[in-house]
Amino acid sequence: MQQFHTVYGGAVVEVVRDLQRARQAVLTARAAGKRVGFVPTMGALHEGHLSLIRRARRECSFVVVSIFVNPTQFGPNEDLDRYPRPFQRDVQLCAREGVDLVFAPSPEAMYPAGYSTYVDVEGITERYEGACRPGHFRGVATVVTKLFHIIPADVAYFGQKDAQQLAVIRRMVADLNFPLEIVACDTVRDPDGLAVSSRNVYLDPQQRRSALGLSRALFEARRRFQAGERSREALGTLMRRIMEQSGIAVDYADVVDPESFEPVDPATEQALLIVAGRVGQTRLIDNLPLWTPPPEPTH
Ligand code: AMP
Repeated sequence: MQQFHTVYGGAVVEVVRDLQRARQAVLTARAAGKRVGFVPTMGALHEGHLSLIRRARRECSFVVVSIFVNPTQFGPNEDLDRYPRPFQRDVQLCAREGVDLVFAPSPEAMYPAGYSTYVDVEGITERYEGACRPGHFRGVATVVTKLFHIIPADVAYFGQKDAQQLAVIRRMVADLNFPLEIVACDTVRDPDGLAVSSRNVYLDPQQRRSALGLSRALFEARRRFQAGERSREALGTLMRRIMEQSGIAVDYADVVDPESFEPVDPATEQALLIVAGRVGQTRLIDNLPLWTPPPEPTH
């Protein structure tokens, strides 16, 4: 099935659900000498996604966005069913941004009856998000492998917001010799510091204020680091305390190597601050590199 949408002053984006058709469209673009940029998403597009799409648009002559809420990366008690799916709005946003192709397969097309092959990246997937969400990275690595085969791009764009996912994908691409480049894009934040996320819609106004504890913890710990603090324990404790004071149930707060996700002690300028916690039923993650100070939000 193939559809065409004309929106935003005549901007047209092709929406393809069929796997073979999507692959063919990308191969045709490549045969015409185009550089293909790919932005995998689960939809509910926001400024974070749009920053990836805009970077792809600047650097590539054919831009593909996939919209697929991947069931294999959700745990049994997670939010697969209630995950937001504003599909028409997403397609309009893609048209407005000049995306060439939206690939939106059905779960049945991606995982037909009898499906039984999964990709496991060892080591890095066992810590932090991997420990909190068993099976999550197996689902991510599997769907990204499938997407990279269906959409044979030159370059794929991922957000630093999901830093461990980025590290898992970089490891997998290197280990399995995927012939494409991975580009990481900085985390987009709301003006008050909260990292933009599709899951922020779950937060009521009070929970949203609580959620600011994540970015506040990260920026405060980075200030402490810049003032000379190098102890992993001290930085972790500081972040944990700030999150708890905001009413967040902390899953972890630590200083890690951004490639291996091993703890780093003492902290160095190559390290990454990572936090995760729950506000009500909503689980949120965030991170801040110690290496390039982006502009600080005003809390
Ligand atoms: P998702 O739809 O949540 O799977 O995210 C799709 C892509 O957008 C992933 O590479 C995410 O890391 C990226 N992304 C999500 N939120 C942000 C953000 N606030 N800033 C930058 N990238 C983001």
